[in-house]
Amino acid sequence: MTIDFNRLSAPEKLLWGCGVRAPEHIDLEAIANYRGAQVVYRRLDGCAARLVKCRERAVISVGIGSYEGRQRFSLAHELAHWICDHDQGSFNCGQEDIGPQNAEAKNIEAHANAYASQLILPNFLVEPWMNGRRANLDTARALGAAFNASLTASAIKVVKRASTAACVVCHNQSKLLWFQKNLAFPYDFYVRRELHQDTTAFSMAFGQGVQISRPVKEASNRWLSGPDDYRLVVESQSVKLPDDAVLTVISLLK
Ligand SMILES: [Zn+2]
Repeated sequence: MTIDFNRLSAPEKLLWGCGVRAPEHIDLEAIANYRGAQVVYRRLDGCAARLVKCRERAVISVGIGSYEGRQRFSLAHELAHWICDHDQGSFNCGQEDIGPQNAEAKNIEAHANAYASQLILPNFLVEPWMNGRRANLDTARALGAAFNASLTASAIKVVKRASTAACVVCHNQSKLLWFQKNLAFPYDFYVRRELHQDTTAFSMAFGQGVQISRPVKEASNRWLSGPDDYRLVVESQSVKLPDDAVLTVISLLK
């Protein structure tokens, strides 16, 4: 495998320096230990994960109340604080602080999430893996299985690395909770704030239908608003998440 080391992000350089050349080589606990942090899994009250520092050593505690993909992201998030935020004290990070969907703001938690996303799904491994695959949830599920990542983190990565215009959106019954677009997405298109009643996602949000839909082609104005939106077609695929929100990957078709 050949890469241009100078073009890697800081978390990718860390992985490369630890000998990571394939997804199964990413051992976050070993990397934490290598950087002087011990990892423990235990019940936590009032936060999802915690970093306690003592000079050159640290203990990262990860709450055991959540599923594996989430615990893994929490560990990567605290590892990011330990490596990047030297001038800060200890951290108690809540469920709302930790998540791949919160990685674009200019604050310390968003930076830790962006760093964590690269530790779990590094671009230098994801890009060759993505080669030629469509931007949909089937691809995100396969990516998550290959890299031991959550479906949400995988869906965001698939959208961000897709060459075609795509976005990932998350709704509950009443509103849009968050969304992320890629660079190819037209700047004058907006994600609708509510689920359209004719979408499979709408049925899922109200407790009907399957857990994950097949990719379907439909009018873009069910999801998006923008110039000539009624003429355009999107491919969409939705899944019901454990917290009852509905995650959808949308690709604009040419
Ligand atoms: Zn944090």
